[in-house]
Amino acid sequence: MPRSLDPLEDESLRGYLLRLAHLYGAAPSEIAICTGLVSSASPRNTVRIPMRFLHDLDEQRLNAFARATHLTSDETRRLLTAPLGRRYGPLNTRLLAETRTPAGILQNNSWILTRTTRYCPRCLSGDGSAIQERHGGSWRRSWRLPPVFACLRHQRLLLHSCPRCGQDINATRTGSLIARGSESGLHPAQCRATLPGTRTVCGTWLAGDGVDRTPQAPATVAALLRLQYHFDGLLAPNGPKSVGSFGWMIPAAQYFIDLRALSGLIFMTWPQARELAGTEALAVLVDREAERRHAEFAKSRAPAGKQRRASHHYSDPSADPVSGGAVLGIAARPLSASDEIEAHEAMAPIIDGAKGRDLSVGYQFRSLSGISHPLLVVLNTSRKDKGAYQGMGQRIEGQGLMRIDGLLGRHEREG
Ligand SMILES: [Zn+2]
Ligand SMILES: [Zn+2]
Repeated sequence: MPRSLDPLEDESLRGYLLRLAHLYGAAPSEIAICTGLVSSASPRNTVRIPMRFLHDLDEQRLNAFARATHLTSDETRRLLTAPLGRRYGPLNTRLLAETRTPAGILQNNSWILTRTTRYCPRCLSGDGSAIQERHGGSWRRSWRLPPVFACLRHQRLLLHSCPRCGQDINATRTGSLIARGSESGLHPAQCRATLPGTRTVCGTWLAGDGVDRTPQAPATVAALLRLQYHFDGLLAPNGPKSVGSFGWMIPAAQYFIDLRALSGLIFMTWPQARELAGTEALAVLVDREAERRHAEFAKSRAPAGKQRRASHHYSDPSADPVSGGAVLGIAARPLSASDEIEAHEAMAPIIDGAKGRDLSVGYQFRSLSGISHPLLVVLNTSRKDKGAYQGMGQRIEGQGLMRIDGLLGRHEREG
């Protein structure tokens, strides 16, 4: 390619392809062919850019793409979500301890938003520089992570669907990284969904201030921005290696696996954790979301005697940034308890509620792969068994973990 673009901060491969296509007045699928992502053998109107390219590229494709776009391999790798796994456990094959290859991590993994992406309309407007004025701002990789529901740069909540057609802004039947990929002439900041019952692309402008139709109450926004500040600190490439969970130090990336498990348990046993919500408005948001999930779970009931595998009704994150943020705020509360006993007291209604609602699904959540030892011990200890209850700390310590106060003591001793 004679000309190319510098990647923007946190830009995703999808966003970068959209901007390149706009630069050349070409269809994104043509750019995907020129850059070696997909083969040109198929007729152009059937080109599909596989969704898995969002996360990772094989070495050969990565090198071809880097050559064609005049980027370094590192710059190309930073367009993918795979590097986010270092800070975000649900994308970390080592922490998940599953037999997943990096390429297979998107399969059955709802804790990266693939079908859709959230967005900040002000980020999409660009930062005022000439290049962003022309092709729009960064479609950020982090908007694909469920714990990212607000934009701290613009002090606002993210959006997740098109303000006009109400669909995912990349709604596609083909599971392609870019919907309507064979179409040229759309700006990167336009909705690419197809209007229902037609063949027309929606094309609504997603950038700027007028996009938001239903602003949230200031107290809700403030509570969610505080939580986002906490999460962004842990997700930052130079963030802390470890974080306190029930007073024990665990890898920061694993904290997000714990949040994922707790979020599923909270939905499953709702309204048990209702009093942990930061504000009544946040609790009402989860009320609505949980009601929908309970109804879907009930509908999916397997015939008596058959084991049910419907836990995804509770474990899937909310696409909606607001209710998604609300439930993660509740999940973060018990994790901030000062020790495992206090955490267990706070979570007893959730633990008992899960057993009461559905023994097998409850068990799936309590033994989810990759959760931290403190959470594993807390979720699987009964208060009725006094000895085991008092011995929780010893069992966590037995896994080689350290208490925060122990760590502080050591720092003091070492001066
Ligand atoms: Zn923004
Ligand atoms: Zn639309």
